Amino acid sequence: MQADGAQLLHALSAQPGGPELLKLGEGRADLMLVGGAVRDLLLGRSPRELDVVVAEDAHELAGELAVSLDAQAQITAHERFGTAVLDWEGGRVDVAQRRAESYATPGALPQVRPGDVHEDLARRDFTVNAIALGLGGAQLGHVLCVEHALADLEARRLRVLHERSFQDDPTRLLRLARYRARLQFAPEPYTAELASRAIAAGALGTVTPARVGAELRLALEEADAISALEALRELGLLQALQPGLSFDAELARRALELLPADGRPDLLLLACALTPLADGAPRQAEETIYELLDRLEFTAGDRERVLRSTLAAGALAARLRKTHQPSQLHELLHPHTVEAVALAGAIGHAAGAAGEWLERLRHARLEIDGNDLLAAGVPSGPEVGARLAAALSLKLDGKLADGRQAELRAALEAAP
Ligand code: ATP
Repeated sequence: MQADGAQLLHALSAQPGGPELLKLGEGRADLMLVGGAVRDLLLGRSPRELDVVVAEDAHELAGELAVSLDAQAQITAHERFGTAVLDWEGGRVDVAQRRAESYATPGALPQVRPGDVHEDLARRDFTVNAIALGLGGAQLGHVLCVEHALADLEARRLRVLHERSFQDDPTRLLRLARYRARLQFAPEPYTAELASRAIAAGALGTVTPARVGAELRLALEEADAISALEALRELGLLQALQPGLSFDAELARRALELLPADGRPDLLLLACALTPLADGAPRQAEETIYELLDRLEFTAGDRERVLRSTLAAGALAARLRKTHQPSQLHELLHPHTVEAVALAGAIGHAAGAAGEWLERLRHARLEIDGNDLLAAGVPSGPEVGARLAAALSLKLDGKLADGRQAELRAALEAAP
């Protein structure tokens, strides 16, 4: 692949923040666009964010950029790493000081020192991410890259920069799966071999689970997260994360189709991957899944939602196939998460029943509430809820005329 610098600059100028960066480059010969942004521009894709490096003063540059953007931009600076992220409504720019990295022990965070642009490219994960475009001074429009980078981009290949790459930073194994899914690039044979060797040697165990969890969350949030999870499975990473973890893309597709707009696709896909673990003894399964999600630092809310969904789906699937009456469906499903119901519908091949509840039944409401029953003389306590539930059941089954009067009568006539 030929990298046409002028064309790249032109493409950059059409990106949010691009013109402002080029303007700032007029006074800074060290300003360069790097990483995924250059890769995406060369592929004719829109980068999700613009990554730039400077020799020094990353924070200062972020401040100048914020001023020139003429937008309400928020700057998040990390003094220790010499980085600053600029976020505004239209886009995002990551500014970093060029650096060289070395790894004292496999899986540990790298030791960092200021470096030149070649060193900054040499610390990167894959050749296609190790391309830089000069934005200022004599470097304007110049493309610098590591060996093989442009040929790999053309051939849609993922290649690590050196043979210790996955040992140094095993989170690159998960990044490999993510890029494979997103860009539909394939690892070249030696990189594939290094990846499987690193996985077999237990490389994932040398990184903090929190970092692995962060990469897993990125995979779950990919636009094509099903492909990302498939790639994780095919590489043997799911099994390495937790024996028994797997992923059935067909099942996931069916489940996602059922998930309503207020559901969480990322959590549903995670529950799909965890489903095989739920097959064992319930107590044991609960403990294993809880510990895994806790270790990977999922938030307490997400952990509970995934745990409840995964543990419930199998049993719900079996009952869903035999339940048709709306009120019974509602009674069966209303205590569960929408993810559990979607997964159960997929497992039990009961899309009709699951969809009926997710789309329609769960939104059904009575026009009356507990106050109406209290006013009619029902003593306060569980009886109020029970009578309302009985009236709702009749309404769901189409056995109630419309309106408050019919509902009130049904609630008062229900067996307490
Ligand atoms: P996107 O932002 O679209 O997900 P990206 O390729 O820009 O893709 P980032 O996670 O934003 O990915 O990282 C920016 C760049 O930093 C990458 O292109 C890569 O060059 C480098 N990088 C990120 N993480 C690592 C890592 N663990 N090891 C080596 N290089 C990395």
